[in-house]
Amino acid sequence: MNVILLGPPGAGKGTQAKMLVEEYQIPQISTGDILRAAVKEGSPLGKEAKACMDKGELVPDSVVIGIVEERIQQPDCAKGYMLDGFPRTVPQAEALDGMLQNLSSQIDHVVSIEVASEELVGRLTGRRTCRDCGVGFHVMFDPPEQEGVCDKCGGELYQRDDDNVETVTSRLEVYESQTLPLIDYYTAQEKIRPIDGVGDIKEIFGRVTQVLS
Ligand code: AMP
Repeated sequence: MNVILLGPPGAGKGTQAKMLVEEYQIPQISTGDILRAAVKEGSPLGKEAKACMDKGELVPDSVVIGIVEERIQQPDCAKGYMLDGFPRTVPQAEALDGMLQNLSSQIDHVVSIEVASEELVGRLTGRRTCRDCGVGFHVMFDPPEQEGVCDKCGGELYQRDDDNVETVTSRLEVYESQTLPLIDYYTAQEKIRPIDGVGDIKEIFGRVTQVLS
């Protein structure tokens, strides 16, 4: 099963993807995570990506398309995968369709996680992640027992560089102008599965698994 998780930054794509990985035993492919790892390594790809990411802009299509084309052909993707944060533009979606056609494969579902834009800034700027185990918290909605410390492993919590108000605003504008057209793109292919992304995380997970079953 090949799935795309679509939705604005802060909709909960990453959170749902991690739960779906356990449920369906297929990998999560997050272009954001791959790019952040490249930035941390200081690789040429990371250096190119960092400037765009810090401004809340998209990394060039050719860069992310290349990453995904290589990744989906790895052995662990043989039974399917969950694309999280890709495609983000119509040219990326067209390139994905082209590569899947060459591989005699296709996307089965595009889960569109819907959250009103007024809610997103607060969700994003309050996010905190554990440096050691990667678990996510939120300063208002899911605070750790001790500020700055992970409940699960005691690791240090950090805020993503691009989760500040200024960059978040630009990321949301980019979503509206460049990513939202994908709803029409995949509606035309009858692959859009809309999900209400507001509520308890487990409840939302139930809604997602229902449309995938
Ligand atoms: P994310 O973790 O999905 O919120 O992505 C963080 C940042 O990585 C984005 O704001 C972009 O700068 C970059 N990025 C991630 N995925 C893509 C993509 N499919 N196309 C272009 N840029 C991307």
